[in-house]
Amino acid sequence: MDISRNTVDKISKSVVNFHNKLLQFRKCQILRDHAVITEDLWVRNGKIVDPEKVFFDEKITADVQIDCKGALVAPGFIDLQINGGFGIDFSYNNHDVEAGVQKVAKGLLAHGVTAFCPTLVTSPPYVYLKVLPLLKIRPGGPEGAAILGAHLEGPFINVNKKGAHPAQYIQDMDRGLDSLQDVYGSIENVRIVTLAPELNNAVDIIEELTKRGITVSLGHSLADLSEGERGIQHGATLITHLFNAMPAFHHRDPGLVGLLGSDLINDGHSVFYGIISDGIHTHPAALRIAHSTHPDGLVLVTDAISALGLEEGTHQLGQLAIEVKGGRALVAGTETLCGSIANMNQCIQFFMKAVSCSVVTALEAATLHPAQAVGIHDRKGTLSFGADADFVFLGEDLKVWSTWIAGECVYQDTESPHPTLRLI
Ligand code: ZN
Repeated sequence: MDISRNTVDKISKSVVNFHNKLLQFRKCQILRDHAVITEDLWVRNGKIVDPEKVFFDEKITADVQIDCKGALVAPGFIDLQINGGFGIDFSYNNHDVEAGVQKVAKGLLAHGVTAFCPTLVTSPPYVYLKVLPLLKIRPGGPEGAAILGAHLEGPFINVNKKGAHPAQYIQDMDRGLDSLQDVYGSIENVRIVTLAPELNNAVDIIEELTKRGITVSLGHSLADLSEGERGIQHGATLITHLFNAMPAFHHRDPGLVGLLGSDLINDGHSVFYGIISDGIHTHPAALRIAHSTHPDGLVLVTDAISALGLEEGTHQLGQLAIEVKGGRALVAGTETLCGSIANMNQCIQFFMKAVSCSVVTALEAATLHPAQAVGIHDRKGTLSFGADADFVFLGEDLKVWSTWIAGECVYQDTESPHPTLRLI
């Protein structure tokens, strides 16, 4: 029996009903093991399964076949730094946090994002105490992309590299972990903390946070290379929006940018770096330099603000009013850039063109690498057997056709080819 489905609702409903069934995605190419291969994708109970095992061990075949209409199937995109979108700023719109997060999580599905870290910029302590407990880690689904935990960007940063962070709320860490606890309260829902490694007590705090499974990212900083390396040696694994809010590369004092060429990488230390490839924050030549120096560490982040998905005009980033004009977001009345209005799909497309890289390279920078940077690559950012069945169907120029979470279609672009289901 062939069933043509024309709406995402119908597709979703069908697949939900088949949740414990074996789904075979056909007529597609898939991104697996650093290559695009022509192979079917098999899914059951929200996970990617090894079909050979099913055939041999269970002697069963597919319950449902899904004709992907020639789509490239890639892991769902993961955004580790996003301040909001669709009119919501996570740090500022704190009257109904859950509704705001919900709105963004849902909106991101159209851009192929299946998991993200809601990001709070430097804010007064009451914001953390109110908002953080509500940014609960949760799986994704039709209601929105998964929440991996919050990214706390500040307030423990260098006031001289504050970027769009309000100076009056920037804090020191003189009392060690107590300084963090006073500001953040519980760190239960935290996935990433961006801090400046040159601050007093940074080394101890990096160790403490890392011990608790939190990724420490170095940024908004004046650190020289040795201060950055000390941070990496003590557990930090990420750099926040490379090139932005840190000293420009200098050949005798390369600063945090120099970490991309550090001996520590050859010694086996992980160094990932977020980079905003929106065509505004990072020049294509700088993208090429970063990529050719350390391709395996490159993580695309949008650093998107509330204006993502909205018209130009006045919007909000944390405590600051911002103006969006000519595709740039600036602190109102200044020329200070403050986050992007590009979505992840656009960042991937821009990156691929700027660097002239392969589709695999571009996609892994938004899938595998962010998953590795926060230590979830056993289940996300990959289409390996056993991973979560979170993926995107992509067409020409990597346009998002549809988005799937746990094997369920959660977004379908109305203009793009719709998959066809066939019950066996
Ligand atoms: Zn920043």
